[in-house]
Amino acid sequence: MLIRLASKLQRGSIVDGEGLRAVIWTQGCPHNCPMCHNPETHDYNGGFLKDVDELKKEINSLDCEEGITFSGGDPFEQPEACLEVAKYCHKINLNIWCYTGYTYEQLLKKSKENQAIMDFLREIDVLVDGRFIYKLKSLEAKFRGSKNQRLIDVKKTLNSNKVILYKNDVLDKKNKEKEKKIYI
Ligand code: SF4
Repeated sequence: MLIRLASKLQRGSIVDGEGLRAVIWTQGCPHNCPMCHNPETHDYNGGFLKDVDELKKEINSLDCEEGITFSGGDPFEQPEACLEVAKYCHKINLNIWCYTGYTYEQLLKKSKENQAIMDFLREIDVLVDGRFIYKLKSLEAKFRGSKNQRLIDVKKTLNSNKVILYKNDVLDKKNKEKEKKIYI
């Protein structure tokens, strides 16, 4: 199986989720958020194709990282390949964060047409969801670009059928009411 990537596996990130992480930059994004920081990752024919097994080998050679972050691009544009990689990451005890321009609710809807979306979602520990909205950009928004984006505890959310925010996300607790309005 192949995965389309925007760049090689990035090691040692401390800004793409909690702890020391490696980042998989996927290629291809449909969202076109104004002022996106990674416009070169939008083109579905851009970047390069990589064998998923090769990527797994690279992940296996990580030494200090405690987790993997899927970013892009939008990883949910390649759910089958990302699922394959995510399963492997969990097998070797790496936790998983994933950034997506879709909201959690949009992903649930999309998963009705593509089971791989739900299967990939089930492998994610923390989902950072929603498009980047420039006017909501804030330095207070830890691990995300704009305040509308939520850090979602996916396991708890799937088990309780309502969005449960990640426990360490202080900002989201503070802005819960504001964010509700944005998503209505
Ligand atoms: S979802 Fe991310 S990569 Fe895609 S346009 Fe928005 S900010 Fe850029």
